[in-house]
Amino acid sequence: MTRRLYYDDSYLRGFRAEAVSVEGRRLYLDATAFYPSSGGQPFDRGTINGVAVADVVEEDDGRVAHVVEGEVAPGPVECVVDWGRRFDHMQQHTGQHILSAVFVERFGMPTLSFHMGAEVSTIELGTQALTAEQVVEAERRVNEVIHEGRAVTVSYHDAGDDLGLRKASERTGTLRVVSIAELDRSACGGTHVRNTAEVGAVLLRKLDKVRGNARVEFVCGARAVRRARADYDTLSRAARVFSSPVDDVDGLVAAQAQRLMAAEKELKRLNAEAAQREGRERFAAAGRNERGWAVEVRRTAGAMGEEHRLRAGAFAEMGAGVWVELFAGAGAGAVLIAASAATGMNAGAVLKPLLAAAGGRGGGSAALAQGSVPEAGLEGLEAELRRLLA
Ligand SMILES: [Zn+2]
Repeated sequence: MTRRLYYDDSYLRGFRAEAVSVEGRRLYLDATAFYPSSGGQPFDRGTINGVAVADVVEEDDGRVAHVVEGEVAPGPVECVVDWGRRFDHMQQHTGQHILSAVFVERFGMPTLSFHMGAEVSTIELGTQALTAEQVVEAERRVNEVIHEGRAVTVSYHDAGDDLGLRKASERTGTLRVVSIAELDRSACGGTHVRNTAEVGAVLLRKLDKVRGNARVEFVCGARAVRRARADYDTLSRAARVFSSPVDDVDGLVAAQAQRLMAAEKELKRLNAEAAQREGRERFAAAGRNERGWAVEVRRTAGAMGEEHRLRAGAFAEMGAGVWVELFAGAGAGAVLIAASAATGMNAGAVLKPLLAAAGGRGGGSAALAQGSVPEAGLEGLEAELRRLLA
């Protein structure tokens, strides 16, 4: 069992201890201020006798293993905790306690789990119906609690006592309780700031649905400031594109999106018109076969689109004629056939068996048929169609 110095002093940044055993890269001390990953909070970094600590792990027997990146001999050691990382974790973790307490206080929503990531943290709330307005209200209330500068204290109790905890603990024996004055009491082994003011600020961000619950993303302290800075920079870049003040960006984006939609619709209409005109013009220019049909057989690079079908259809509407177009690109092939009623040819019925023979599939009506076919099958398919249309 390793004595946990951080239980009673989260602000301990440097300490002396005894390295009682070394097992490969795993170092065991009689006492440690290095926090091992647990309860949603990641491990501390730092150094032991100048050697970097790569991981801190809580083992089943209650010992804390310090995974070190070099040799550390047994005996007295000098330890330094990476304070920037630790204090950031203290801000996120205390911020989480306030946030979880506020969601209960305001909306009766319990926190089911907590995860602290390198960039953002999340809590999962046991509710299916968390609204954007509730998120805003929770954020307002959390920051109010922060600014009230409430004391955050640690005390120890017997697990059997009535402790008024936000969430019942399954542990037995002695419980470590972290209290936020007049707001929250939680059984927790994590490291916390001593006053809510040190959390600085909490920013709630993404709201997701997971496993039928609501997941709320949040950042506290310096992370909140960094995130707000990054958000402002993003907004500023968007504003530069519009040569507008940042506050006008959302309105401009909405207006641009609408114009773009209208322009795309118009472009689609013009493309359709052009394709149909081209189909009609090709009918006049196309060669005639023995039966007097206008026959066009062509190869096109790329995928088949609506404009191709329109062009083929317009061609066949002009009189006795058949349009065949074969598409090749990126290993996938396709074929399109439009036949006029005057030819008496059933495009779908003609194409289906040809596709099956070429390893493809598809079909269609008497007037218009299409299918996909392996690119290697295109040549044979084209020869077969040319023969049929000669
Ligand atoms: Zn906690």
